[in-house]
Amino acid sequence: MTKRVMSSDLQLEDNEIESNIRPLSLDEYIGQSTIKENIKIFIQAAQQREEPLDHVLLYGPPGLGKTTLAGVIAHEMNVKFKVTSGPAIEKPGDIAAILNNLQPRDILFIDEIHRMSRHVEEVLYSAMEDYCIDIVVGKGPAAKSIRLALPQFTLIGATTRAGMLSSPLRDRFGIIHRLEYYSIDELSAIIMRTAMILNTSMTEEAANEIAKCSRGTPRVANRLLKRVRDIALIKYNKPIDQEICLKALKLLNIDENGLDELDRRIIEAIAIQFKGGPVGLETLAAAIGEEKDTLEDVYEPYLIKQCLLQRTPRGRMLTPYAYEILGIDSGK
Ligand code: ADP
Repeated sequence: MTKRVMSSDLQLEDNEIESNIRPLSLDEYIGQSTIKENIKIFIQAAQQREEPLDHVLLYGPPGLGKTTLAGVIAHEMNVKFKVTSGPAIEKPGDIAAILNNLQPRDILFIDEIHRMSRHVEEVLYSAMEDYCIDIVVGKGPAAKSIRLALPQFTLIGATTRAGMLSSPLRDRFGIIHRLEYYSIDELSAIIMRTAMILNTSMTEEAANEIAKCSRGTPRVANRLLKRVRDIALIKYNKPIDQEICLKALKLLNIDENGLDELDRRIIEAIAIQFKGGPVGLETLAAAIGEEKDTLEDVYEPYLIKQCLLQRTPRGRMLTPYAYEILGIDSGK
């Protein structure tokens, strides 16, 4: 897969400074005001009752701050934060061991919870509901089922695909929130905050230009900022103003709509190869050489949000606006 500045997937280099720029408290967490307001109340209520927070499900496209918010909740609850992911938990025994090692009120975060195996998921049902699990000891006729009590924990699950969660699992979450794309102002604030942490001097106008190209996603905003910062250092060696920022974004091949080469390749492929659509997701993925899931989770939501692409029962179709951006006649 091509490595992409605009990708909202987590990439290796992100990890280096990731821990420094991730907000720790609810006050530092920018945007998502409705979710924050709700979470604040639930945290206070849980603390007053001296109980663990109810289980939380966060869903939405990658890079919108699900992991960050889970960490913020743990920080605000003043409890330990254990992170794992659906595909990493292979056997029921693995999840049993993780749960058994938690302290009361600790938070277990499971990223990509929709990718957990069915056997592991079944262990979670009783763990989430009654704080206990049934373990089978021995084999054959001598096998016995033993009930193991667990510490009262909070599970925070994150997924890009709420629809892929089974209903028994989804029903066990008391708090369910969908994270929204961020506004330009919110992204500008995130960029200014990150720039300050990275000791980079930049004007608000420059931050605003990066925000406009960030696809509503903090992870993209932070990554673009890092690339613009590199270009500014090497080519201009002065604080980042609007002019430098625009030149840097041009060098990165990102247009004023926040579209990069891959986005343009997608809409061009539909326009030219598939005559505007409808085209099936798999055919489209094969045509541009990307995985179907990546196309669906990462690229498509933004193209749809920008009114460039439509999902129809017959497949994906371009909108008249997409033709306008491409500068070609739709012929319709
Ligand atoms: P997700 O888990 O949804 O894929 P992350 O929580 O890993 O996304 O967030 C991606 C990056 O964006 C992190 O580096 C984090 O610092 C930043 N970020 C996310 N949400 C916010 C926010 N509300 N305020 C400031 N920075 C944020």
